[in-house]
Amino acid sequence: MALEDYRNDMMRCVRCSSCKFIPLGSIVKSWQFAYGCPASKQMNFHSYSGSGKLIAALSWLDGRIGVTPELLDVVYRCSLCGLCDVSCRMGTDMEVYEILHQLRKKLVAEGHGPMPAHKPVIESVRNYDNVWVQPRNRRGRWAKGLSVKDLSKGKEKAEVLYFVGCTYSYASDLMHIPRLTAELFTRAGVDFGILGARELCCASPVYMVGQQDLYEEYAKKNIAMFNELGVKKVVTSCAGCYGVFRSKYPLLGEDMDFEVVHAEEYLAELIGSGALVPKNKVDLSVTFHDPCHTGRMAEIRAPSGGGEECHLGCLPVKNVEKVLGFDGSYDAPREILAAIPQMKFSEMERIREYSFCCGSGGGAKSAFPDFALSAASDRVEEAMSTGAEALVTNCPWCEKNFADAVRETGAPIRVVDTIELLAQSL
Ligand code: SF4
Ligand code: SF4
Repeated sequence: MALEDYRNDMMRCVRCSSCKFIPLGSIVKSWQFAYGCPASKQMNFHSYSGSGKLIAALSWLDGRIGVTPELLDVVYRCSLCGLCDVSCRMGTDMEVYEILHQLRKKLVAEGHGPMPAHKPVIESVRNYDNVWVQPRNRRGRWAKGLSVKDLSKGKEKAEVLYFVGCTYSYASDLMHIPRLTAELFTRAGVDFGILGARELCCASPVYMVGQQDLYEEYAKKNIAMFNELGVKKVVTSCAGCYGVFRSKYPLLGEDMDFEVVHAEEYLAELIGSGALVPKNKVDLSVTFHDPCHTGRMAEIRAPSGGGEECHLGCLPVKNVEKVLGFDGSYDAPREILAAIPQMKFSEMERIREYSFCCGSGGGAKSAFPDFALSAASDRVEEAMSTGAEALVTNCPWCEKNFADAVRETGAPIRVVDTIELLAQSL
């Protein structure tokens, strides 16, 4: 598959601008929070929308434009959040997300991309197996003092692999989240283990910026390692790992003898079965942000390759499954929050498959921090409009970016991980 295969999709775009907004009609509740594309919202210019990128891609393929700093700005000032894809698919069979990704892949393959800020991240994955330029032997440091099985040497076995991810493993302000999660698993009697220093990057960050060769190398290494461990489930706390394991790895065609589960899905099951019983009151009003990678981007979008069949004599129809983002992990965090005594919960306007991206993904936080901050500030404003005292989420990238926005804007709201609240209530 290549960008060129999607020429018909690019030509079929009717510039309706639906990809800039959450679907109109019953889903839009107010003009303040009708935007769905953070890039269009920040730049207020059509080129930055999903449609604008399709037009730019076609113009580049046809030789009408060259690769300029402006083109790279349009392509990479985007969190690859996929909202444009689900909004466009409401009325078409176009594969906007696939085209945005193929465009990045082609720019990288021809030596124009990714952005300079992405190169240290790519080198870090190549040299250290993580995105934070940290030594491998410090990867399991978050678990120091906890009694957890180490599956890395093949001597110990477990049914569940708890895969922590680069950011929760190394970020000192976030490593209490995997510690709390491991403590909750232990308390519920889960037979689990970790990989410690042998855990590798899931490779979602390199996939997102278009570095396909490195992505495939790491994805295949991870699949082989998970199969070799013989675990039934790979449970992860990180939205990025969850999204790529669930929606991108299966497209590589390798056998995957394990199920992928988000830690919150697993914990919600444990609450449902009575293995964990939240008892302590947590007197707090909260709202929840659905990260793109536990939500619409966790759904498998099997690319069609662009081929079309002729229906009714002349009507071109693509053989592609309608994927509208419904199959994300939306219920588990809400079930956990609902189980916590005394907690008050209100929804924002843009939720579930129409969640507004925090702005951090797709390499945007490192290359365009102003863009990431603008998207996060917009989302914090929406969270504030619910009257909540805390903005709850379950993704390390969202948490860091929201914390930056709260610091920058001085908004009187806390950013909290679902696991912290669940641990308090136990
Ligand atoms: S990409 Fe889809 S939603 Fe956006 S302008 Fe084109 S046809 Fe409309
Ligand atoms: S992926 Fe997200 S940020 Fe990028 S163009 Fe689409 S809606 Fe906008």
